[in-house]
Amino acid sequence: MRLAEVLSSPQTNTFVQVDSFLDRKLAPGRQKRVDIGRIRSTYFCNHCNDLMTFATRENGKLYCVGVSDTQVSIDCVLECAICKTPVKKWFLIESKDKIYYPAPEVHILKQSEHLSDDVMLENRCPVSIGVLLDKAQHAYYEKLGAGAAIYLRKIYEQITVKAAEAKNIPTKNANGHRKKFAELLKNVDVIAHIVPHEFSANGYRLFGELSDILHNDYDECIALEKYNDLRRLICGILDNIKNNEEMLKSLERLGWNEEDNNVQD
Ligand SMILES: [Zn+2]
Repeated sequence: MRLAEVLSSPQTNTFVQVDSFLDRKLAPGRQKRVDIGRIRSTYFCNHCNDLMTFATRENGKLYCVGVSDTQVSIDCVLECAICKTPVKKWFLIESKDKIYYPAPEVHILKQSEHLSDDVMLENRCPVSIGVLLDKAQHAYYEKLGAGAAIYLRKIYEQITVKAAEAKNIPTKNANGHRKKFAELLKNVDVIAHIVPHEFSANGYRLFGELSDILHNDYDECIALEKYNDLRRLICGILDNIKNNEEMLKSLERLGWNEEDNNVQD
């Protein structure tokens, strides 16, 4: 595997063996051109109005800067496959043993990216939710586990309230106080089915996990370990809502309303 493949994959603590990319020690601050393949990432491009692959240039070698015997950094520019809109990205790469040894085992220790107004991480949801998803991801890149969890929880609350409003489900109790999240989610899910069936029984558990992370005695490392899975479930709810809306529109267009449900062979 080439280093670019690791840099194109989600950041994890697992070290992965890659082809050698340095033939000798790189002193701190020294830079060297390296051939590591193309780094790719998916973003939503506002110009192209679609999810697009952004990549470093074909045959373009990248510059690697020495940090220590086990760390190097790489700066790069990924471009939209169609319109060439750029995304600036930086990686700090760490190896298990000396990084200039043959076939080193490496992982991304830290990464950062700068997105212009033309590029978003996600577009599976309204812009306001997309902004929160981007913030959660950047908090994760900065290893701020509790911060990332706050954004995910905020998204969950906002989409549940939006779904309630869309179905005219009261978000407040008779005494005028906001309903507890567990109650509101239950009311909403019974009618709007926002939680995918794969974990429909654990819709509140997801909220509970995100809330636990915010409690004082919670281990920040565990929050980071769980982040990708918790984010996947939140995105699953967003996809599910979008899917439900699209299917309802199709059913309307086809005229398959309830009166037509008496199918005859
Ligand atoms: Zn584009």
